Amino acid sequence: MKWTKTLIQTLRDNPQDAEIDSHKLLVRAGIVKKLAGGLYTYLPLGMRSLKKVQAIVRDEMDKAGALEIVMPILQPAELWRTTGRWDTMGANMFKLKDRGEREAALGPTAEEEVTDLVKSVVGSYRQLPVTLYQIQWKFRDETRPRFGLMRSKEFLMKDGYSFDVDAEAADKTYWTMYHAYERIFARCGLKAVPVEADGGDMGDSQTHEFHVLADAGEDGIAFCEACGYAANLEKATRAASPAAAEESAGEIEEVETPNARTIEEVSSFMGLESSKFVKSLVYKADGKCVMVCVPGDRDVNDVKLKRFLGAKSLELADFGSVLDVTGANAGFVGPVNPSDKTLRIVADISLKGAVNRIVGANKDGYHLKNVDLKRDTSLSDADFADLIVVAAGDVCPVCGKTIVIKRGIEVGQVFKLGTKYTEAFKAVYKNDKLEDKTIVMGCYGVGVSRTLQAVIEYSHDKDGIIWPASVSPYQVCICLLDPDQAEVVKVSDELEAALEAKGIDVIVDDRAERPGVKFKDADLIGFTVRVVVGAKGLTNGGVEVKLRSEDKSKTRVVKPEDAAAVIEELIKG
Ligand code: ATP
Ligand code: MG
Repeated sequence: MKWTKTLIQTLRDNPQDAEIDSHKLLVRAGIVKKLAGGLYTYLPLGMRSLKKVQAIVRDEMDKAGALEIVMPILQPAELWRTTGRWDTMGANMFKLKDRGEREAALGPTAEEEVTDLVKSVVGSYRQLPVTLYQIQWKFRDETRPRFGLMRSKEFLMKDGYSFDVDAEAADKTYWTMYHAYERIFARCGLKAVPVEADGGDMGDSQTHEFHVLADAGEDGIAFCEACGYAANLEKATRAASPAAAEESAGEIEEVETPNARTIEEVSSFMGLESSKFVKSLVYKADGKCVMVCVPGDRDVNDVKLKRFLGAKSLELADFGSVLDVTGANAGFVGPVNPSDKTLRIVADISLKGAVNRIVGANKDGYHLKNVDLKRDTSLSDADFADLIVVAAGDVCPVCGKTIVIKRGIEVGQVFKLGTKYTEAFKAVYKNDKLEDKTIVMGCYGVGVSRTLQAVIEYSHDKDGIIWPASVSPYQVCICLLDPDQAEVVKVSDELEAALEAKGIDVIVDDRAERPGVKFKDADLIGFTVRVVVGAKGLTNGGVEVKLRSEDKSKTRVVKPEDAAAVIEELIKG
């Protein structure tokens, strides 16, 4: 392909709304162009890379035995009503009506759609297992679309769904997909780590997210470098011991703390460390107030709290409710003697046995000193659990070594769904005794467009993108320095043809531009291999070949007739 025959726009300036490097480079290198917030057009270069990522995903899915289909984006509301998700998906789902007032959604995912399909096609155990997948555009009205393709309103997802006869068979499929995912991301040039994640409304279901570690990642991940434990902070636990009883409890005492509400304010007012404080927050779990107490220097993990309470919904209580159940406004509430004596109180495990703590007095402007949680509150042993967000320095729940926290970009997720959807749809098969049995499901998502950008976030430098050969828009860029000299053009054309004959894709920068401009653009777009073909070079012995990832000093001068073989080796390596 000749540069002058394609449509490439590179930009010198970063887009105004870009916060992270990969977003800046996506736009500057002419991979995508923004239409509006969370909506992007894939330009010719971007389309080539996107198709390469898709091809890798498709190849691995096919090899894993999954069957490709494509289902409508426009999904009738009845499907979603069958599982109740028409109401519970909330504002994230784009809903619309057709001219006949029939309600529908732009698919944010497709569990309902695929279960409805399988219910009507599968009748016997002989047809199972079966795994179906599609690579289809998804729509989510994200609260905060940002970071380019990372969190957009319209994005390309590979979504796969497996159907098995029982949980044991479903487990086997799960791991087949898990390993396919490892290969997919490795082939895209990414190091993606599987981490344990929370099963969401699917309860304790097993699920792994695949994360590309990067400071720009939106998720926090707890890691143990000693044993390999890795979990999303939503799910991560720590080995926590009850508070050591190193001191004896003092007399409880009321202290006036005017205008000091936050832990920081109260601790600086009293001149004590924040860990001596108990942070007390009132939540509404399924509409009923509950107080949760954690050490003053730690944060409540809403996901773990919700699971511990067995609640379907969980949110912070409003000011009025806080006042009603405690007798004070937020900032002065605590576990000792709240005005509502039936208020359920729960606490983080590290507070079990804690003495001499400072808590809100349930009276505006006051705190209590020397609180012994056992002596002075209604907390019983069963009310303590691991309820805080794991932090660096916590103890690994598996091996007891120290946890570190990293940031990750979620590029994929594998999930055991059990029978949640198949029960709702009554998707059953007949076993060999002709009894009806509910099909057991799994689902498997890859953010194809997010993966494309994750490659850039993972692999770039100050000059631009560094594409791995597998997903580079063109694997080779020939910078043709003297497009007006027939001899030089001939060498370039022959090399282009020789590379294409080897199945390597090439772009020839044949623009009437200065070499500096061509080198800058080649670096910005980041084609895997750069070849310089120019009159001066040819008289000095040949063409110059270098990987984008290599320093200039590594440039090889190669005879034109050897160049294709050298480049092929570089790409393979
Ligand atoms: P997130 O937690 O980032 O919102 P999710 O867990 O809700 O994502 P899934 O339902 O697991 O997303 O979707 C499968 C994959 O689709 C994700 O692993 C991610 O790579 C991708 N994805 C999800 N939402 C978006 C989005 N708004 N823009 C781009 N890719 C997305
Ligand atoms: Mg996910």
